[in-house]
Amino acid sequence: MTDRADITTLDYTRARELLEKKEITCSELVDKYFQRVNVSQLNGFITVFENSAREQAAQIDEKLKNGQAGRLAGMVLAVKDLIAMEGKKTTCGSNILSDYISPFDATVVQKLRAQDVIFLGKTNMDEFAMGSSNENSHYGPVKNPHNPECVPGGSSGGSAAVVADNLCIASLGSDTGGSIRQPASFCGVLGCKPTYGRVSRYGLVAYASSLDQIGPITKSVPDLSVLLEAICGHDTKDSTSADQAVPRFSDYLNRDVKGLRIGLPHEYFTDGLDADVAEKIQKVIDFLEQSGAKIIKLSLPHTEYAVATYYVIATAEASSNLARYDGARYGRRAESTSALEEMYVKSRTEGFGSEVKRRIMLGTYVLSAGYYDAYYRKAQKVRTLIKQDFDRAFQDVDCLLTPTSPTTAFKIGEKADDPLKMYLSDIYTVSLNLAGLPGVVVPVGKDGTGLPVGVQFIGPAFEESILIQIADFIEREFEQ
Ligand code: GLN
Repeated sequence: MTDRADITTLDYTRARELLEKKEITCSELVDKYFQRVNVSQLNGFITVFENSAREQAAQIDEKLKNGQAGRLAGMVLAVKDLIAMEGKKTTCGSNILSDYISPFDATVVQKLRAQDVIFLGKTNMDEFAMGSSNENSHYGPVKNPHNPECVPGGSSGGSAAVVADNLCIASLGSDTGGSIRQPASFCGVLGCKPTYGRVSRYGLVAYASSLDQIGPITKSVPDLSVLLEAICGHDTKDSTSADQAVPRFSDYLNRDVKGLRIGLPHEYFTDGLDADVAEKIQKVIDFLEQSGAKIIKLSLPHTEYAVATYYVIATAEASSNLARYDGARYGRRAESTSALEEMYVKSRTEGFGSEVKRRIMLGTYVLSAGYYDAYYRKAQKVRTLIKQDFDRAFQDVDCLLTPTSPTTAFKIGEKADDPLKMYLSDIYTVSLNLAGLPGVVVPVGKDGTGLPVGVQFIGPAFEESILIQIADFIEREFEQ
């Protein structure tokens, strides 16, 4: 029998065992989470669904009694507030969508609903997923559960913080240039950015469409494997969704790493890397080598151009995607305007925050006649070179091991006034989005001040299984 006061700390795999044994119920679980959510100071949620979550819990408890419960029955989940849920607000952390209610479920939500997931609420995030610290939210910054003076990372800062602080079992985030992996690393939880095309983007509000993917954030690798499996798969509603078989990721648990070839790209281990982070990562490398993996040093020569390339492509796509917020179709419309153009200008001026405006301007500039070839087309060419670096690397190794971020969580306010400094903190995460590859982040300990460090594994396209296998091995065997 477990200590009932502690059921909020359970991962899904364990909670489900207790649900099956009738030692706990979904209603009790949801109750305990709301007790925590209602006094939480983290600002991790934008909306909570107290009524519908309790209704769902009661229904699923019935199904459990009758032996009809779905694969993920009782997984109490938080959803980043840029994923559409029917009848619920989808604000994207923005003032312009502060009253927007989605008329439909995103494909991922539909899939999870069918498996009896319980939806607890929508999480705080950087406005339109633009940021690395969650400070760009219209709803205020989120605090890091390990130190409330620090950021939780971004842009899925709410999704990572609420899992780390046991305000739910797991969450969904989105990752365009690191937004699942960096907050997972900063908050000490698991995060996976799937291969581009692996998970349907239908119902995911677009930031940069050629880079965006939805992915899971969890407390354990077994949870990561089941949640990932549940959201993957081809979707005719998303033309970029890949028609690829989805493996049973849980088959890759409880294995070892003997003979696996793990590459270390030396461009990810240079001067900018914090000594404390480097030391932790080195311990993981030594551990994997002692456990029978082959560690192979290699080079990804175009890495130094990744941040610049990413910020040209992401802002270009964002400027185009965000053109749809005109005050006419979705969300807020400015009051007392008399002419159409004035209505557009005022609605957008009032509705968007400063970082979003900066990116719309940057993106419009790099796409404009006269600058298109010099910036946007050039960036697309460099993107190909970055992808080819990875293709070459994966001829010799099964996956790559890198830090997730040069530092652990920084202080709220520390980089807020210096966009370039903020952008540079994405140095280890953006390349794999440009190449469309999957990545998993695993917590491997804490720095001297008690802030978590996460190690990142990058795999070839559609090889999430290898990443799950290594992450699980580390979670079980590595002594932090
Ligand atoms: N920090 C990066 C940006 O601001 C990545 C964000 C993301 O992955 N959504 O664009």
